[in-house]
This record gives sequence, C-alpha cells and structure tokens, in this order.
Amino acid sequence: MTRRQAIKTTALASAAFATLPGAIAQTNSTAPAATPSGPFTLPPLPYAYDALEPHIDTQTMHLHHDKHHAAYVANLNKAWEQMPWGGPPPTFTYLVENWLKDPKFLSENVTIRNNGGGHYNHSLFWQMMKKNGGGEPTGDLAKAMNANFGSFSTFKDNFTKTALGQFGSGWAWLVWDGGQLKIEPTPNQDSPVSQIASILDGGLQFQIPLLGLDVWEHAYYLKYQNKRADYIAAWWNVVNWDFVAERYSKLKA
Ligand code: MN
Repeated sequence: MTRRQAIKTTALASAAFATLPGAIAQTNSTAPAATPSGPFTLPPLPYAYDALEPHIDTQTMHLHHDKHHAAYVANLNKAWEQMPWGGPPPTFTYLVENWLKDPKFLSENVTIRNNGGGHYNHSLFWQMMKKNGGGEPTGDLAKAMNANFGSFSTFKDNFTKTALGQFGSGWAWLVWDGGQLKIEPTPNQDSPVSQIASILDGGLQFQIPLLGLDVWEHAYYLKYQNKRADYIAAWWNVVNWDFVAERYSKLKA
C-alpha cells in the first residue's frame, strides 16, 4: 500500500457521515425526543422509521436508533466530559482516528471503547440498509467478492454463519483488510476500524468496515424473539449494496 492509499483508507474509515447530507434530505423521520448533549450527536436515520418494514419493524427502529444509539452517544459525551481535555471538542473523525485506532487508549478507556465503538458502528449501520434493498452487488465489488469468496452465495452463507455464530452481543462484518475482503465478527461494540489489518506495508493499517450486521438482541428481539437466523435472513432484503459499493470504490480509486 502506498502512503497515498493509506491516507485514502484513513479518510474512508472516518467518513461514516459522508453520504448523510443527501440522506437527510430524503428522510421524513422526525428527530428523536432526546438529543444527547455534548460534542457527539445522534445522526438522524437516512430514511423513515418504517422504511425497512416488514423485514425490520418500525418499533425496533425507534428503540434501536432513538434509545440504544442515543445512549451510546450520551455515554460517549459523558466519558468525554470526565477526561482531562485541553483542546477543542473532539469531532467524529477525531473519535475514529485518535481513539478507535489506538489499542492502548481503548484498553485504558473502556467506556469510550464501548460507546465510541457503538456510535461509529451504528452511524454506519443505518446507511448500510435501505428501503427496497437487498439483491446482489454489481461491478467491481461483485468481482472482488467473487475473487475473495468464490461467489456471492458463498459470501452470503459464510457471512450468515459468522453472524449466527457470534456468541452473545456483537457484529458480523465484511471488511477490507489490507487489500483483501474478509468476513470477521466483533464482540460487543468493538469495530473493525480498531483491528489492525493483516497486511502491513509502510505503517499501521486498520480494517475498513464495508458492511456490518448488528446481532445484539436489541436489533431483533421485538420482532424475531430468539430467532436470530430469521432476522439475518430478513436483513439481506434491506442491505444497501450501493453504499457498500461506494465505500469499496473509494478504496480502489
Ligand atoms: Mn445496535
């Protein structure tokens, strides 16, 4: 990897909000009741709360976004307030580049690891889904998936197995890892962006999340109860492959 590519991947990792301005314009959702105060803010859903019905139900989207994601943001703000801090308030990019990519910092600041990771992961997760999503990727992303996994159906099977196999709370991810596409689980709110990529050339590289699936029970329990497999099967119908392909194309460019 060249330094220029490294800079690009760094920018992409922290660009979770990159598509939000356009997305906000499309939304007819109302702002959540409680907006956590502090430097970190809860982004609105890029679509209406009922947009992912029947696969992801409206009530779950309200609870997941307005309560769970909001709590990560609120707790992150509280953790920041308690830090000795001499500079300007941290930005979302600062969170990703200076906190989530620093293993020592994360090991010493578990509240930020959990809530900062939760804020980052969910900020991406909303954009990784859309109304009338699903299907299969096309173009360069499809080619890369065929090269890395053999076929889309093999990828889908393996990703599903990873999501099913995550014991307890966590995520399944499609990640860019030093030029390869890989499927990785993370526990709790750990993020791939905190994982050092396997190919190191000219400095530290971190994985870049391209697609993630939240398998915390809060993501599915209201509609699917304990049937995580049914939730995963339904979720494939709302995957926003355009968003995933856009992230991948920025890595390739
Ligand atoms: Mn969640």
